[in-house]
Amino acid sequence: MDVDVANLWSGAWLGRCRLTVCGDLLVSARRRNAMDGSADLEIPGVVFAGLRDAHVHLGLVDAGALFAGGLAVVHDLGSPPSVLAPFADPAVRAGLPEVSFAGQFLTAPGGYPTDRPWAAAESVRVVDGPQAAASAVDTQVRAGASFVKIMLNSAAGPVFDDATLGALVGAAHADGIPVVAHAEGRGQAARAFEAGVERLAHTPWTERVPDELLAAMASSMRWISTLDIHGRGSEFDVATDNLRRFRACGGVVMYGTDQGNGPQTVGLNPREFDALLDAGLDRVAVLESITVPWPPGTSTRLAWAPGGPPTDARLWVSWLASTRNLQPAQIREQFA
Ligand SMILES: [Zn+2]
Repeated sequence: MDVDVANLWSGAWLGRCRLTVCGDLLVSARRRNAMDGSADLEIPGVVFAGLRDAHVHLGLVDAGALFAGGLAVVHDLGSPPSVLAPFADPAVRAGLPEVSFAGQFLTAPGGYPTDRPWAAAESVRVVDGPQAAASAVDTQVRAGASFVKIMLNSAAGPVFDDATLGALVGAAHADGIPVVAHAEGRGQAARAFEAGVERLAHTPWTERVPDELLAAMASSMRWISTLDIHGRGSEFDVATDNLRRFRACGGVVMYGTDQGNGPQTVGLNPREFDALLDAGLDRVAVLESITVPWPPGTSTRLAWAPGGPPTDARLWVSWLASTRNLQPAQIREQFA
């Protein structure tokens, strides 16, 4: 079936496009040209390749609710193996997002979040020295992890020494997967960077990252935003200032909200979009932080927002947050 869409965003605004859909698969998407005959269906508004939250906890929030709230792809950054096991099979499931996960929280003996009521005991793996690093990482990889999550929270308890931190990063890289760190407390973001960690689970918020360090981080790290978890106050201001300067140095920002952590809109969070705009990302940069390009060939990920992008910033934020997943097999009944 050929579907013409008024406007398509896939890494850039592509304007009027022709989608070819077969059953539940998107076969191709391209700019419409003058030679094209009429389509089987015309749909208004904007189609996206699928929206991603790079920081969620499926042990604390329902995957189906995240999909219903507009997310096509989620990265779980710490949940019990029993919750994640069904997602280790990459088969696409109707009504659920694509899931990549870290597996268990890897932490030092007595370290965060072992004492937190929200952290199920089986969601935490204690690593008590460099000799324990490889097996802790291998356990996550065998369970299907696409990355590992290491906890460096000196504000809440003990953290890894340099030898253990280095061994964990080395073990992950030996397995060919990147490392995501929760860095909290003085100097922990710097330690993560120096150890070769690729991604921070949160924009640093417990201290101002110095300019020189921040520029170095921008060349090799990605930061997951999670600005809205701080509400609005001094921690939010520190994080926003760090993110603004990280971005100005060319750093790559990934939209992420820590869904499951505290009360927030389930699915797309307009307050996070607002915060990203406040941190100096323009609208294209916000879209880049949240959209996942289609894989070559086929995909099932489509999202749709009604109407064109509004000019007014406040309306633009609520418009983007109104985006919902569109299953290819259901396009006809939805728009006919
Ligand atoms: Zn989290």
